[in-house]
Amino acid sequence: MNELRCKVLIIGGGPGGYVAAIRAGELGLDTVLVEDGQFGGACLHVGCIPSKAIIHAADAAHALAQPLALNAIGLSLGASSLDFAKTIAWKDAIVARLATGVGALLKKAGVRSLKGRATIVDGKSAIAHADTGDQRIVCEHLLIATGSEPMALEALPFDGEDVLSSTEALALTKVPETLAVVGAGYIGMELGMAFAKLGAKVTIVEALPKILPLYDEELTQPVARRAADLGIWTTVGAKALSFAKGALKVAGADGVEKTVAAEKVLVAVGRRARTVGFGLDSLDLTMAGPFIRIDDKCATSMRNVWAVGDVTGEPMLAHRAMAQGEMVAEIIAGERRAFDHRAIPAICFTDPEIVSVGLSPKAAKAGHGEVVVGLFPFRANGRAMTKQADEGLVRITARADNHVVLGVHAVGSGVSELSSAFTLALEMGARLEDVAGTIHAHPTESEAFHEAALKALGKPLHI
Ligand code: FAD
Ligand code: NAD
Repeated sequence: MNELRCKVLIIGGGPGGYVAAIRAGELGLDTVLVEDGQFGGACLHVGCIPSKAIIHAADAAHALAQPLALNAIGLSLGASSLDFAKTIAWKDAIVARLATGVGALLKKAGVRSLKGRATIVDGKSAIAHADTGDQRIVCEHLLIATGSEPMALEALPFDGEDVLSSTEALALTKVPETLAVVGAGYIGMELGMAFAKLGAKVTIVEALPKILPLYDEELTQPVARRAADLGIWTTVGAKALSFAKGALKVAGADGVEKTVAAEKVLVAVGRRARTVGFGLDSLDLTMAGPFIRIDDKCATSMRNVWAVGDVTGEPMLAHRAMAQGEMVAEIIAGERRAFDHRAIPAICFTDPEIVSVGLSPKAAKAGHGEVVVGLFPFRANGRAMTKQADEGLVRITARADNHVVLGVHAVGSGVSELSSAFTLALEMGARLEDVAGTIHAHPTESEAFHEAALKALGKPLHI
């Protein structure tokens, strides 16, 4: 068997692994990256990018189907139609373009990239089962970035035809007439709303008592209202029991069974860390439940064995995986770094979008005592009105004693683009006075952030 020697061996070329590889290469570390599927991982090929492309197409299609909203701004259009196969081809072209970019960046950084499944032998070696034959790779540092995969339900196993994971749902070439979504988390709500806008009659079944259980009611209510406006029937505290012949059987919160028409069923009940089938057990690492346990440097329980991304647990977000990957490469190169998870933004690309950075008022109070909260609604924001999108708010939470910002949350159209301002405030340890003292451009939705800080200081201007 061929033998390859390197300083850093990375298993998994998703956002965690490929970013670690690029930075390691840039820092002059001899790096090998092994990827079983496609460089870019779940995020690029079956996650973040494809879903946001479909959401954009759905928004555009839906806007054309809203004569009242269009008439209000003086527009009237003829009949429009959707060629969904073309939409999917457009989405695939974006993915292909970005994947080419990832390959080029790895090459530029001098990373040796191998296509094939890696099997770990021990903490210093693995075998890559490449098309060209097996290759033994010996390394000084091993980085595990094998990500996650969709979790199935025993009652509704994926069949690739009718009961789908997000991967297959994002590859449908025809919009189903009826779609049942099991799980009202990120994927269920993002894709459920998008398919409703594309014309599907959508039903959402959630086990917990509310949709998007990660977020508080103030943030989820506008999304729940919009889902209802889109004709989505949502049942919470419910259980999906079985699926056969286009019908999903559901037990409601009251225990009463109902049958829901569903040409397709999307099961989106979370993702499972990818930890089996590639020799991970040979390392006998300490686990944290189903995830690899890591410390604040992404070090595992074994010296010079590191782990980043979804395989290390929540939050399963691409930007967290990337930040961890970048950091591990820098630590291996000798830099002093540690991962601070206090300012990781989370965005739900629903309609309206939700942004969460840091602590909610309730969590802030529990952890820090007295807090002040400032809230500004988009209905008082000029820019939101001009976009026909004045639903939602920005909420800022700070310590009462020194006004250090502990959390910023928003719900509204396009608020995803405000997330960097919110995150920067937390990362820089901003106080309310810093946000209030920053000149925010007019007219922008970011003024709601400024106004929320002014409100928390008891000196609002525009409310
Ligand atoms: P992955 O992206 O899962 O990559 C792991 C890679 O390792 C895979 O390519 C896999 O083929 C490879 N691999 C596994 N085992 C082996 C092996 N033995 N040998 C070789 N290679 C191996 N996150 C966001 O931040 N924003 C979003 O908007 C967002 N939207 C999403 C939408 C959907 C529908 C889904 C499913 C996810 C979304 N996510 C989003 C989550 C995001 O995709 C993940 O958090 C991110 O991909 C995790 O990166 P990772 O590198 O840890 O793992
Ligand atoms: P999730 O954890 O966001 O939501 C799963 C939902 O399913 C929860 O509300 C849960 O209560 C519900 N559920 C669990 N078991 C159920 C059952 N038997 N019946 C009905 N409901 C059930 O998971 P997801 O939506 O599958 O997404 C997976 C991961 O991908 C998330 O952790 C997220 O981090 C990531 N993701 C992120 C984004 C984003 O950043 N915008 C988008 C999509 C996915």
